[in-house]
Amino acid sequence: MTTCSEADWSSAVKMIDDARQVCLACHIRPDADALGSMLAVAVALAGRPGDQTVVASFGDDPFAVPGILRFLPGQSLLRPPAGYPDRPEVVISFDAASIDRLGRLAGPAAAAGGLIVLDHHASNTGFGTVNLVDPAAAATAVLAAELIDRLGIGLTEDIALGLYAGLVTDTGSFKYAATTPQVHQLAARLLATGIEPGTVARELYDRAPFGYLGMLAAALGRAILEPGAAGGLGLVWTTVTRADRKASKLPYELAESVIDVVRKTDEAEVAVVLKEDDQGTWQASVRSKAAVDVSAVCTALGGGGHARAAGFSFAGSPAEAVAAMLRLLDRQ
Ligand code: MN
Repeated sequence: MTTCSEADWSSAVKMIDDARQVCLACHIRPDADALGSMLAVAVALAGRPGDQTVVASFGDDPFAVPGILRFLPGQSLLRPPAGYPDRPEVVISFDAASIDRLGRLAGPAAAAGGLIVLDHHASNTGFGTVNLVDPAAAATAVLAAELIDRLGIGLTEDIALGLYAGLVTDTGSFKYAATTPQVHQLAARLLATGIEPGTVARELYDRAPFGYLGMLAAALGRAILEPGAAGGLGLVWTTVTRADRKASKLPYELAESVIDVVRKTDEAEVAVVLKEDDQGTWQASVRSKAAVDVSAVCTALGGGGHARAAGFSFAGSPAEAVAAMLRLLDRQ
């Protein structure tokens, strides 16, 4: 299924089977792939007979599951970082390309007796004692599914829902290039447990409070096209400010989907949405269509991601962030 070695898979399975307590961690500000994969494995492990305990968390402070992901099963296994062991026996990391992406859980992960890294970012630093990293995998959920299979655990609806949410999100609803026949085969296995694809789509994509329309209108209304960017391929960008969200008391996470409208722009190979978080820091979502590796640009600005979808945080103004990106794109 994946390109990871048999030896790595067997050491991961042995580490997990031998542990009295397994601690799971996914990247900060979790998306559906990070949280869905982690909760799927958590539910799978917790459902086994025996007295192994399972703890799952992510290193955000304050600790809150994004509202859009509250439909994922297994949340009773979540603990805030303060309730996470300082020196865990075994940690499994999900969808994090580097240890700092674990935020407040980076310390416990580094101090763990064993650290299993499950990820699909090409930029993964290999920070685990066992690294199950496959850049060709459409989602970390693909690796999580293989881990569950190799542990000999059967799929249930609750396990399948987390994996399916990750698969849907990271393939752009089965639209992106990584959507192989194997991805659909995995999706078929997940749906065969009885989960409803319509429910997942509605929770993840097809709902928002009325105030979202006003926020979207404000953001789209100030979009700027830079036709000369990226060697003439073009870049389109806009911002979602705290003020845009404040009028309707919208949470930050509702700004995440604005990029999916902005990136439609025919005249731009690269699309950028700068979202102001509740602390006033700009979080950039960057997408490309085919020619530009936005992961390289975002990595140069202290972030990371995939070739067609990446991001970074920026302490300056949005205009400065775009200027820095334009310079880096011209060099590519
Ligand atoms: Mn992912």
